[in-house]
Amino acid sequence: MSGWRPDHETRRSQETDNLPGLYIHIPFCLRKCAYCGFYSITDRSLIPAFLPALRREIDIYRGWTASFDTLYIGGGTPSVLHEEDLEALIADIRIAFTITADAEITVEVNPADITESLLASLRRSGVNRLSIGIQSFDDGSLALLGRRHTALQAISAVQRVRDAGFENIGLDLIYGLPCSCGHDAASCPQEQHDVATYPSWLSTLNTAIGMNPDHISCYQLTLEEGTPLAQKCDRGEVVLPEESVLADFFCNTSKFLEENGYHHYEVSNFARPGRESRHNRKYWNHVPYLGLGPAAHSFSGRERRWNRSSVEAYIGDLESGREPVESRETLSDEQLGLEALFLGFRTRRGICLETFRSRSGQDLLAEKREMVERLTREGLVEIRDGFLRPTRAGMAVADSLALI
Ligand code: SF4
Repeated sequence: MSGWRPDHETRRSQETDNLPGLYIHIPFCLRKCAYCGFYSITDRSLIPAFLPALRREIDIYRGWTASFDTLYIGGGTPSVLHEEDLEALIADIRIAFTITADAEITVEVNPADITESLLASLRRSGVNRLSIGIQSFDDGSLALLGRRHTALQAISAVQRVRDAGFENIGLDLIYGLPCSCGHDAASCPQEQHDVATYPSWLSTLNTAIGMNPDHISCYQLTLEEGTPLAQKCDRGEVVLPEESVLADFFCNTSKFLEENGYHHYEVSNFARPGRESRHNRKYWNHVPYLGLGPAAHSFSGRERRWNRSSVEAYIGDLESGREPVESRETLSDEQLGLEALFLGFRTRRGICLETFRSRSGQDLLAEKREMVERLTREGLVEIRDGFLRPTRAGMAVADSLALI
């Protein structure tokens, strides 16, 4: 059993009903999307060796903390596992760890994999939240992204999820795509060739809210070096929107979804009241989490460690009785403070000044007074109820706010 545990701060946080979260990484996909920079592989012949290795890792951390109030199974694409394997895995996790009765239990699913039988299996396992990787309701954009599903398949998948009785669902979308019209610039029907225009993004958003999801994630497309989409861009075959266009997308999206009842609670995330992702909030609020599986990260409250990303190396370590940890770092007070700024400015809740002072030893308002006053004048931050919060305009430049 690992001697590594949540630190004292975590044990205190448990008393305040702020328990650690558990993340399981399933690193397999049926095929690689054109933009994907996540760690995942398409060689599913490793699954029979991966699942016992994952169980060995679960054994190492048995009793890591008193209990978890979130379980998040992500990837990769967890729904490429056979449903009986996924069901057995969740059952084993429940035996090894105490998952609270009211836990948020999320599984990421690809619309192309959603069947009545998979949904019934997930319901039997106690999964109460699905995160569905839709990305777009435009077939041209889906083809450009190399997704496995069409817009119609996505719509019918969401309907099936609702019919199966899932009340808490999240849709993942991507904006800032190149034009997907398939024409050259002269014959492109869009007003502005090369970039998918805001009306086409708005049409995806309208379809999304028409399905009344509880949660919507809107990620800006980033070009990951070496991916097929980045190579197309390098060859000049597609052009991404400029920064100023993306800033407009961000602000217009925020206004549109807030007008339709979705709280913009993190740079990329919107939720109906009470439907924010409890698991992801732990990452942003520096609450400890345990991550199992290749490339998974864990945080004890002071130390961060991450696993080997190679599936073969991960399996090899566990078969040889070693923890599959690639590396670890212990954060100083100063690093914790910097991270708290970086993460806090990404959330509408902002940075709790008192918590910041007790964790990092810094009085933010006293030490950065001039800067905070300037950002306030510029309409990027506000101070309210003991929190330093980014405004909508501030969230658009959240990462640079953290450099104050
Ligand atoms: S499904 Fe997700 S993890 Fe898999 S290749 Fe596509 S973007 Fe990457």
